[in-house]
Amino acid sequence: MTDKELFEELSYTKKNVYDVITDAEKAQMFEFCDEYRKFLDNGKTERECVNISVKMAEEAGYKPLDDYKTLKPGDKVYKLNRGKNIFMAQIGTDDIENGINICGAHIDSPRLDLKQNPLYEQDDMALFKTHYYGGIKKYQWTTIPMSMHGVIYTKNGDKVVINIGEEENDPVFCITDLLPHLASSQMMKKMTEGIEGENLNVLIGGIPVGKDVKERVKFGILKLLNEKYGICETDFLNAEIEIVPAFKAKDVGLDRSFVGAYGQDDRVCAYTTLKGIIDSELPKKTAVAILVDKEEIGSCGNTGMLSAFFEMTVAEIIEKIKGKCKITTYNKVIANSACLSSDVNAAVDPTYESAYEKNNASFAGYGMCIIKYTGARGKSGSSDASSEFMYSVEKIMNDNNVVWQSGELGKVDQGGGGTIAQYVANLNMDVVDCGVPVLSMHAPFEVTAKTDIYMAYKAYKAFYKDR
Ligand code: MN
Ligand code: MN
Repeated sequence: MTDKELFEELSYTKKNVYDVITDAEKAQMFEFCDEYRKFLDNGKTERECVNISVKMAEEAGYKPLDDYKTLKPGDKVYKLNRGKNIFMAQIGTDDIENGINICGAHIDSPRLDLKQNPLYEQDDMALFKTHYYGGIKKYQWTTIPMSMHGVIYTKNGDKVVINIGEEENDPVFCITDLLPHLASSQMMKKMTEGIEGENLNVLIGGIPVGKDVKERVKFGILKLLNEKYGICETDFLNAEIEIVPAFKAKDVGLDRSFVGAYGQDDRVCAYTTLKGIIDSELPKKTAVAILVDKEEIGSCGNTGMLSAFFEMTVAEIIEKIKGKCKITTYNKVIANSACLSSDVNAAVDPTYESAYEKNNASFAGYGMCIIKYTGARGKSGSSDASSEFMYSVEKIMNDNNVVWQSGELGKVDQGGGGTIAQYVANLNMDVVDCGVPVLSMHAPFEVTAKTDIYMAYKAYKAFYKDR
């Protein structure tokens, strides 16, 4: 063995996926990402993602858990939580007391929610007030085409589903910004203050309508909303309407190596998790996929990871397998379970390298990323995976030719963030973050490498098969 070979064997060198995958896998990878782009275009909200997930699950033979009185190996079930959170399971051949294998991703993404009383008129223009959701750099959300998605209930209790701005001939909406010619004082402000939360107002109309009405443009919009959807202004008080980027997911780069789209944090891991469980053969341990809501605001609420929904559904599955769910059985199941918190990591941006510590950062193109801990400053808010669990996950990845890399979020004192991992860990099971590195995370147009998307899919499938 030469010194060069020995050095390679002894040291940790990250590999570019293109240097190690076969041509056949490369072709599969590009096809996989074409389907992924469609998923993103049809799933711009948590509700829409759940709807597509149900469709994909049902096509793969999954049925509502409530339809089953008992469960046996090979049964494929799903359960919905308020239309924003889905639990899927394929029952394995092992005794469930040996634990289950979970991959968990989130399907909410940063966006602008309409306020409860959003509509107003000013300077003969109609606008919607918004309240941003999740951590955003506000200036990125102005002057781009936006679409409107959500639900609203009319006085009669009719549910109206809103989806405007996605079809070729649909109108879109936007947040205007001050022209540079008049922005000298705005440009002197810090970037955090240049665009204020209360300035994220969406332009929605400009035709004055009627006589003897005080606000004629607002009147025009109200009439239009009423004619088209049967809604009145008071109905907005119950509405959940999200303003999101209107553009479609695209291949990025002359060589089409990247995917650019809104909402890839964390729908890239949601899609790969979904495909991972759907494409899994009958597993030994019961395979579970959970796609949760509210991660971007702390995993709170009845559809977030902190909701009891997950535990209640696990208990229901145990009961349907064993006839009853004793507390000791439940405790064994949970303690023997393991979870990949399928969430994205920050990819090193060549233009902003100084925010990263490159020996421990993740790179686009170097495969799925395992993140032992997240958190801020001194690992605050982190679930730090144990050495034992890290080893077992790494072994599964190596045994299944998953190209993966280790990564942390950025330089130690640079900032930080969390995922659902800490809340899963609180239940008393092993968990580690595992996902796709992203460029421009939380921006209206996020970028991921196709290699890493494909490797995440392979990783989740391998975990279901071998853990
Ligand atoms: Mn995320
Ligand atoms: Mn996020």
